[in-house]
Amino acid sequence: MIKCHIVQDLLPSYIDGLLSTESEHDIQQHLQECGVCRALHAKLSASINNSDLHVEKTEINFLKKVRKRTTKKMITGFTVLVLIFALLTYFFAIGSPVHKADLMYTTSVVGDTWRINMELTNGKALLVKTEPIYGEKDSNGIKPVVGVLVKPHELLPSPILEGDNNSFMFGSTIDSFNKRDYKVILRLGDGDVVFTSDNYDN
Ligand SMILES: [Zn+2]
Repeated sequence: MIKCHIVQDLLPSYIDGLLSTESEHDIQQHLQECGVCRALHAKLSASINNSDLHVEKTEINFLKKVRKRTTKKMITGFTVLVLIFALLTYFFAIGSPVHKADLMYTTSVVGDTWRINMELTNGKALLVKTEPIYGEKDSNGIKPVVGVLVKPHELLPSPILEGDNNSFMFGSTIDSFNKRDYKVILRLGDGDVVFTSDNYDN
């Protein structure tokens, strides 16, 4: 029979399974017969299990950290996506004002309609926005419409929509020009071109 102190010295290695089968067998036998060493063995085994638990906890914390970082990355990614979408919308849907050098326009009278034909010559797509121009309040407190603001914008050509969308025709009845103060303003990035009753048919 081995002495207790030798068994106790060897217990950590025994628990870790580092002993030779012969020594392991001897210690097993000793543990069956000796209550003191058995108790110590139980205590040591428990504390080793606890340290395993500790390792697990650290792993969980690590995973939490990774998850937090992933969430942060996802939020950053999402923000970037929103920005890209905003930029794409700007270039493809909102656009920027067309400059004089990039727009060819002609005016003509067809029947009772006065027209501006516009063509964008820089290879971009043309989007023309129009909005009414309001005059001074009349005696009823209502602002009359006294013209139209025509705002050509250039967009990046759409990769989805095919076809030439670089020209646009704006029409206004000649009658409109007979109204007081009526005007059509072609608003370009570098200045306005104004058509009034004085010059519309030129
Ligand atoms: Zn013993």
